[in-house]
Amino acid sequence: MPASLSTPNTETLPYLIVGQGIAGSLLAWHLEKAKQPYLIIDNNHQTSASKIAAGIINPITGRRFVKSWMIDTFLPFAKSTYQEIEKELGIQVWQDMDIIRFFMSNAEGNNWLTKTTLEGYDQYLKKEKNAHFLHHYINDEAGFGTVVGAKVDLGKVIKNFQNYFQNKGVLIAESFDYEQLEIEPNKVIYKEISARKVIFCEGYAAFRNPWFAHLPYESAKGEALILRIPNLETPDIIKKHFFIVPLENDLFWFGSNYEWDDLSNEPTEIGRNYLEKELKQILKVDFEIVNHLAAVRPVLKDRRPAIGLHPNNDHIAFFNGLGTKGTSIAPYWANEMVQFLTKGKTLPEEVNVRRFILQ
Ligand SMILES: Cc1cc2nc3c(=O)[nH]c(=O)nc-3n(C[C@H](O)[C@H](O)[C@H](O)COP(=O)(O)OP(=O)(O)OC[C@H]3O[C@@H](n4cnc5c(N)ncnc54)[C@H](O)[C@@H]3O)c2cc1C
Repeated sequence: MPASLSTPNTETLPYLIVGQGIAGSLLAWHLEKAKQPYLIIDNNHQTSASKIAAGIINPITGRRFVKSWMIDTFLPFAKSTYQEIEKELGIQVWQDMDIIRFFMSNAEGNNWLTKTTLEGYDQYLKKEKNAHFLHHYINDEAGFGTVVGAKVDLGKVIKNFQNYFQNKGVLIAESFDYEQLEIEPNKVIYKEISARKVIFCEGYAAFRNPWFAHLPYESAKGEALILRIPNLETPDIIKKHFFIVPLENDLFWFGSNYEWDDLSNEPTEIGRNYLEKELKQILKVDFEIVNHLAAVRPVLKDRRPAIGLHPNNDHIAFFNGLGTKGTSIAPYWANEMVQFLTKGKTLPEEVNVRRFILQ
């Protein structure tokens, strides 16, 4: 078993991470790089958004084609982190991918053209792209533009990290019971584990965490379909209101919707019917639904991550609120969090969990 209750020097105690989604996995990864001991508790991904996410990194978003928050910093950092993980775990998860963005109107197309001339946008927007064969498959009313993006196979990252952590003997497969956490002056104790700090990374399930129940959660469920679309051979992600993301063979990920009332994690008939109806308007060809997935994105009211220490207790930490963009933002903030924990680097107020006042 890990650290003993009687370990006198708290600096040698492990960090105890709760949750092995992309947040907890990358935090553990950066702690390891910083030569810090850690243990992870995860309930076998019972409520994992990371496992079903498409893993798209889309630098230009919204109807007005705005650059995604801090993307110039996040994208290169994410690429080098995932490529390092690929090397160390012997897997392939990163793909540079274009996103073919179909316009909903001519006005949108004009707006796009203006953006292509703006400084700082040119690296993400391609003026020329030979993807006109997609007209055979996609209903195209107003043309398309091309965004230079990427995709990470997050499901594969999580699965391979799970094996990696299991093999190292640092992953405990159980549900964390908040009532069993004891706070001591210099450490926390959870069952037989003494830890330097507990770092909560439970994704949307954090609303049940009594230490962080005061945060303004606006988590959003998303459902997705796995499709077979015979003969559609595209190396690119297609976006027309929804994303169509090529997987292996002739399979595609299609999604997703946003639902704020039902945060159940279960795929629903309403969700499936809605996605299927939308899909029929987008696709000109037949498709087959081979799977239906659902999970909840951990979103906070101000749409920023929440990281750092509990307002009243320095041994309780949080790394969450990755929202709709965990793939691109988790690598950078996990590293910043580790720099904060190990070197005292200041966390920007914008992401610091202490910005939320404890009532
Ligand atoms: C349909 C859908 C599509 C998405 N597509 C994209 C995309 O294309 N690109 C992108 O960047 N983002 C996407 N996202 C968002 C992305 O999934 C999240 O930003 C990210 O996965 C959040 O990671 P996390 O580690 O914080 O949470 P999670 O992945 O949910 O991980 C939390 C982990 O903690 C575990 N856990 C929770 N409570 C406990 C407990 N008490 N004890 C033990 N373990 C516990 C859970 O089971 C889980 O394994 C999508 C999300 C959805 C739902």
